[in-house]
Amino acid sequence: MTIAQQITQASQDMPDIDAAARGLYIDGEWRPSRSGKTIDVVDPSTGAVLATVPDATIEDARASIDAAAAAAPAWRATPPRKRSEILRRCFELMIERSEMLATLISLENGKALRDARGEVAYAAEFFRWNAEEAVRITGEFGVAPSGTNRIIVDYQPIGVCLLITPWNFPAAMATRKIAPALAAGCTVILKPASETPLTAYALASIYEEAGVPKGVVNVLTTTSPGPMTAEILADPRVRKLSFTGSTGVGRQLLSEAAKHVISCSMELGGNAPFVVFDDADLNAALDGAMIAKMRNAGEACTAANRFYVQSGIYDAFAEGLAKRMEALKVGSGVGADTECGPMITRKAVDKISRLVNDSKEKGARVLCGGITPQGDGFFYPPTVLADVSDDSDMKTEEIFGPVAPLYRFDTEDEAVERANDTEYGLAAYVYTKDLARGLRVSSGIEAGMIALNRGLVSDPAAPFGGVKQSGLGREGGQHHGIAEFMEAKYIATSF
Ligand code: NAP
Repeated sequence: MTIAQQITQASQDMPDIDAAARGLYIDGEWRPSRSGKTIDVVDPSTGAVLATVPDATIEDARASIDAAAAAAPAWRATPPRKRSEILRRCFELMIERSEMLATLISLENGKALRDARGEVAYAAEFFRWNAEEAVRITGEFGVAPSGTNRIIVDYQPIGVCLLITPWNFPAAMATRKIAPALAAGCTVILKPASETPLTAYALASIYEEAGVPKGVVNVLTTTSPGPMTAEILADPRVRKLSFTGSTGVGRQLLSEAAKHVISCSMELGGNAPFVVFDDADLNAALDGAMIAKMRNAGEACTAANRFYVQSGIYDAFAEGLAKRMEALKVGSGVGADTECGPMITRKAVDKISRLVNDSKEKGARVLCGGITPQGDGFFYPPTVLADVSDDSDMKTEEIFGPVAPLYRFDTEDEAVERANDTEYGLAAYVYTKDLARGLRVSSGIEAGMIALNRGLVSDPAAPFGGVKQSGLGREGGQHHGIAEFMEAKYIATSF
C-alpha cells in the first residue's frame, strides 16, 4: 500500500462517532427524541463521556411501530432473492467497514480490539448466512392419514418484531436477530442497550446503504425500557419479541408479552461449567479455557463460570491457567496490545469484587489477580481462584468478568451432577480424550450447547440457545433462527 492509500485506509477505519450519535433511526430518517433528552455513552476505559444519543419517548416508539407496520406489506412481498441480495450487501459492507466497526465497539464497550474484530466477523456472518437461507424457506406438503385431504403448510413472516439486545456484543446480538427477521420477511424495531448504542446506529447506516427500505429496520434508544416495551407490545401490530439479556429482565418481559399473547424468543443468562477430566490434553484444555473464559474479558453469556477439574490434573491445570491469566495485558480496549479491556461499568466491577471477596471469605485461594484496582476506568484484573467453596455466591451467579473459579471433582457422575447444579443451561465445555465419555457427558449435561474439546461454540450456522432459565428458542442454525420469525399456516384441501 502507498502512504496515501494507508492514510485513506486509516481515516476510513476511524469511526465517525458524531454520525453514529446523530439521532433515533425511524422510517429511514435520523430524528432527535421528541423530549429533546439524551443518554450519555461512556468510555469504560476512562469513565469519560464519549457521545450522547437521543432518549426516545413513547411517541417516538409509536412512530417506529407505524414505520415498521407501514413497511411490512412491501417487504414481505419482496422476492426472497431480492431480500437475500440486500442481506448479502449488508454482509459485504460490514466486512469492508470491519476495522471502523471494531474500533467503535472497543470504544463504547471497552472490549479489546482483537475481541471486537472477532465480533464484527461473527456479526457480519449472520447476514451472509441468512442471505443464503432467505432463498431456501420452503413449506410442507402431505396427504392426511385419513386420505380425505391434502395438508399444505406455508411459512409466513410473523409480522412486526421488537428486538431488545444487551451491551456485551453490541453488533452480533443485533445482527443475530435482524438478519433472520429480514430474511423471513419481517420488519423490526431494535432497542439496543443504553451503554452501547453507537454500534447499533452505525449498523443502521450500513443497512440503509445496502438497500434495506425505510421502515424495515428502526432503532430506538431509551432510558425507560420497561414502559416503552409495554407500549410497543400492547400494539396489536407487533407480533414478536426477541430478547437477549439477563434472566431477570427476560422473566419480566415474558410476563408483559403474556398479556398480549406475543411470540417470544429469549436468549438469557448462563452459568457455564468447564469440565476437565484427568485424561484431557492439558495444553488444549488450557487454550480452550482461555477462550471460554476470556473472550470479551469474561463478559459473555457463554463464559466459563465454574471450572470443574478432576483431582489428577487439578494442580497442573490450576498452575497453567494462573500463568496464562497473569500474563494477559490489561488496558484500554483500543490499545494495540490489550488482551483484557475494562468492564462495562463501575457497577460491574463492584459486583465482581463482591463475588471474589465472598469466595475468599469462604476459603478460596487466590492464584493471581483478585484485587480491585483504583483509578480511572472500570478495570478488574484476570483472576484465578482455587478450591472455591460450593457455597460461594459465584457458583450460582454469573461473574461476567475475568475471574476463573476452580472446583475439584473425582468421578464422572459427580462432574455431571455438579455441572447440572444450576438453574441455568446455556453452554458447557468438556475436555477428555475419551470420545465415548465426552459424548456421554455431553448428553448428560443440561445445556443447549456443548463444546467438546473446544473453547468456543458460537457459529451462525448452528442453533444457539439455552435450556432451563437460560432461555426459549434458538438463534442461527439451518432453519431454527428464521423459524423464530415465521408462523406456520396450514391449508387443508382436497383434489
Ligand atoms: P439486561 O440488563 O437484561 O439488559 C438487556 C437489554 O434489556 C438492554 O437493552 C436493556 O436496556 C433492556 N432492558 C432492561 N430492563 C428492561 C425492561 N424492564 N424492559 C425492557 N427492556 C429492558 O442485560 P445486560 O446486562 O445488558 O446483558 C447481560 C446479560 O445478558 C447477561 O445475563 C448475559 O448472560 C445475557 N446474555 C445472554 C446471551 C444469550 O445469547 N443467551 C447473549 C448475551 C448476553 P438498558 O440497557 O437501557 O437497560
